[in-house]
Amino acid sequence: MAFEGLAERLQGTIQKLKGKGKVSEQDVKEMMREVRFALIEADVNLKVVKEFVKNVSERAIGSEVMKSLTPGQQVIKIVQDELTNLMGGEQSPIKFSTKSPTVIMMVGLQGAGKTTTTGKLANVLRKKYNRKPLLVAADIYRPAAVQQLQTLGKQLSLPVFSLGTDISPVEIARKAIEHAKEEHHDVVIIDTAGRLHIDEELMQELKDIRALKEPDEVFLVVDAMTGQDAVNVAQSFNETVGITGVVLTKLDGDTRGGAALSIRSVTQKPIKFVGMGEKMDALETFHPERMAQRILGMGDVLSLIEKAQANVDMEKAKELEQKFMTQTFTFDDFVEQLQALKKMGPLDDILKMIPGVNKMKGLDNVKVDEKQMGRLEAIIYSMTPAEKTNPEIINGNRKKRIAKGSGTTIQDVNRLLKQFEEMKKMMKQMTGMTQGKGKGKKKM
Ligand code: GDP
Repeated sequence: MAFEGLAERLQGTIQKLKGKGKVSEQDVKEMMREVRFALIEADVNLKVVKEFVKNVSERAIGSEVMKSLTPGQQVIKIVQDELTNLMGGEQSPIKFSTKSPTVIMMVGLQGAGKTTTTGKLANVLRKKYNRKPLLVAADIYRPAAVQQLQTLGKQLSLPVFSLGTDISPVEIARKAIEHAKEEHHDVVIIDTAGRLHIDEELMQELKDIRALKEPDEVFLVVDAMTGQDAVNVAQSFNETVGITGVVLTKLDGDTRGGAALSIRSVTQKPIKFVGMGEKMDALETFHPERMAQRILGMGDVLSLIEKAQANVDMEKAKELEQKFMTQTFTFDDFVEQLQALKKMGPLDDILKMIPGVNKMKGLDNVKVDEKQMGRLEAIIYSMTPAEKTNPEIINGNRKKRIAKGSGTTIQDVNRLLKQFEEMKKMMKQMTGMTQGKGKGKKKM
């Protein structure tokens, strides 16, 4: 999970301030010292840290805050605001051209995740924006790059434009845009060549592609795990080629978060998306405000809801609600739920989006055991249809058979049966509440 260390330290620091009826200048100074350490430890650019501390201190030591009834809360709000500002304030949307096609150029160093992100972005454009993207393989120096993009295109059922590796990237880009017009593609995403290091030749080539038709967006793809190197790369690309936004990849593996917190301030260019995994659906729109909330342990309900909406089949959800109400929920439904949940991504991350979870004892460091979930599924798959619908019939002999069939123990089977029973009981209570009259009518 990104920002792990920073989140822990910042939350610890602000916790001390939270309930205070009075906050002195000294308190703020002490807190800011800790915040400064936390940011430096998270590998945030030093200049950015200084600026941040200065901004928060100035606002926090202001008289309105000190005299207010809830100074602790106010200071926390200031930290939240400034963190949001640091990451760009508002979410920065993709700029589409009014004249089709919109041209998006993907640039970056080798290994940053440029080709993968090209595929992911096309997927987002199609799914979320209803666009008809054309992928363009313009990295002619790494033959495998063309193939890699073609494979991704196949996987996503999206067309890939390529002319091999003997034609110049500029020419490929020109022909691709023509082709897109003919075939009515409304977005063209050009996967350009990467290098191990920034070099003149590469920059010139990128400038030539840019000169061909001013792209609507030039997205720099950088690897979050490289920390301040990512920030330096962003600065160089911005100064030489010019970029319009940043895609920060591998945030799923970056526990510090320094690049995410520094890039915007250093380059003045917004982070538009973040890569959260290798799969084609692991690209998230970057929301500075929500990210700040996550860092401060306030959860991120909006992203959670969006995630759920993208993965949940509404028809199924209604059907399930009905089953809850009538208590006809079976083990088959249970397995279906487990699978739907798994589709939403790593469960540890999902838990952290729920406000307050990080403060609940026992839940703060929970690691969801995906293996255990696999075991539950195996047990359920070893049941007969009758057992799945009527678990009451599962006696000693049946338990033995199920345990053997799923490679688990009788205790495991017992535990699942008990959990299921408890879940049913809870459902009964919940439906009692939602269907109850008058005062008892509560919405869950
Ligand atoms: P390119 O040389 O910049 O085109 O890089 P690639 O697209 O080939 O990606 C390099 C490696 O990074 C591949 O193994 C990708 O699967 C991996 N990768 C890309 N984005 C992400 C991400 O957001 N998270 C993780 N964990 N891996 C990623």
